[in-house]
Amino acid sequence: MRAEVAEMLETLRRGGVDDERVLDAMASVPRELFVSAEQRGDAYADRALAIACGQTISQPLMVAAVVQALQIRPGERVLDVGTGSGYQAAVLAACGATVFGVERIAELADAASRRLTAAGFAVDIRVGDGSRGLPDAAPFDAIAVAATAPWLPPALPRQLREGGRLVLPLHRRGDGMDELVRLRLVAGRWLTDSLGPCRFVPLIGDDAYAGEVRRPAP
Ligand code: SAH
Repeated sequence: MRAEVAEMLETLRRGGVDDERVLDAMASVPRELFVSAEQRGDAYADRALAIACGQTISQPLMVAAVVQALQIRPGERVLDVGTGSGYQAAVLAACGATVFGVERIAELADAASRRLTAAGFAVDIRVGDGSRGLPDAAPFDAIAVAATAPWLPPALPRQLREGGRLVLPLHRRGDGMDELVRLRLVAGRWLTDSLGPCRFVPLIGDDAYAGEVRRPAP
């Protein structure tokens, strides 16, 4: 294994990622394919990097924490909202999931599709508003949202199966931070837990923020 990949895995373990299947998936996805040419040297650094259209590829620890919290089993159907570079979709696919992605910016969706195909991952990416989920591919076993929502878009939990998991960053009033929240549908009841503070770009859509940078003031 390359030294920079081994170092990234060490950072993930220190950050609380202990699911070996998630660590294997993180080790197997060539992150350098999902960042711009100028940033290749930083591909395995534990930070978010800028991608096209003013968006970001999330930091490896955040991706690993989200994927671990989703408890993906091979063969499950997973929706990746805010596909961006396609990196998280690739990690989900490397866990054995059948992955659907939805991305609002067509240019990013096209580039992600091309990259994922080149890297050997079959992910079905659609251009659209993920605050509405992806009704024609629902239900899902898990949904990952990579952009902060002002509230829980009701379409998302509706598109989960019994036993389903949903992880999304929600805007937290007061301190301007976002909070990573997990919902699980267990025996007909919703269980919610907090995975801690985080920071993501805004979810922009019909059931989310209205405009480019409009977010409520902290
Ligand atoms: N998971 C991505 C992170 C991308 S950043 C990665 O691994 O690279 C979040 C992405 O969410 C951005 O690309 C942004 O365009 C997208 N986004 C924001 N609002 C959205 C919406 N309503 N539906 C779909 N995508 C959205």
